[in-house]
Amino acid sequence: MKITRREFLKLTAAASGSLLLPASSALATTEGPVFPLHKKVKEAVTICPYCSCGCGLIIATGPDGHIINSEGDPDHIINRGALDPKSIAVRQLSQNPLRLKKPLYRAPGASEWQEVEWDWAITEIAKRIKATRDATFERTVQVGDQTVTVNRTQAIAFLGGAANNNEECYLATKLCRALGIVYIDHQARL
Ligand code: SF4
Repeated sequence: MKITRREFLKLTAAASGSLLLPASSALATTEGPVFPLHKKVKEAVTICPYCSCGCGLIIATGPDGHIINSEGDPDHIINRGALDPKSIAVRQLSQNPLRLKKPLYRAPGASEWQEVEWDWAITEIAKRIKATRDATFERTVQVGDQTVTVNRTQAIAFLGGAANNNEECYLATKLCRALGIVYIDHQARL
């Protein structure tokens, strides 16, 4: 029978669990409060967001939806289960108490950032994108004696971040292409 490495690990874990069962049963009969040994978790496969290697991760999330564990995906062709310290600590992305909960805005000429509401920030971003795109959109450029269709604006750039997941990156890229934005990059390359 041919089994994958991940299936092998699952079988090994199941066998270990069976061997431990008598000890767990013995614990359950001792006096005092009994605490649950296992949390209810969900598991999903995803991609490490930190660099362009794109290592595969298995993420466990707790009842509140936050990441509680991350492991290398042994079936992923890039990392085969290996991870570096950055991705092992990926749960900090959702659990860090310093994580910003609201957008920050620094007005032109101001030296301080101020917290603003999402509705205001999104409306303001949309207004400025439209005004800039309308003022700078190029349908064609002249290359020698040829007129080339470009449908672009060179006045707007998009910079993604390490915490963006696959789906967010896909949507952001689609939006940029639709708007004619050609300068699209990711913070990990800077
Ligand atoms: S685990 Fe390390 S090498 Fe792999 S994608 Fe994440 S940061 Fe890059």
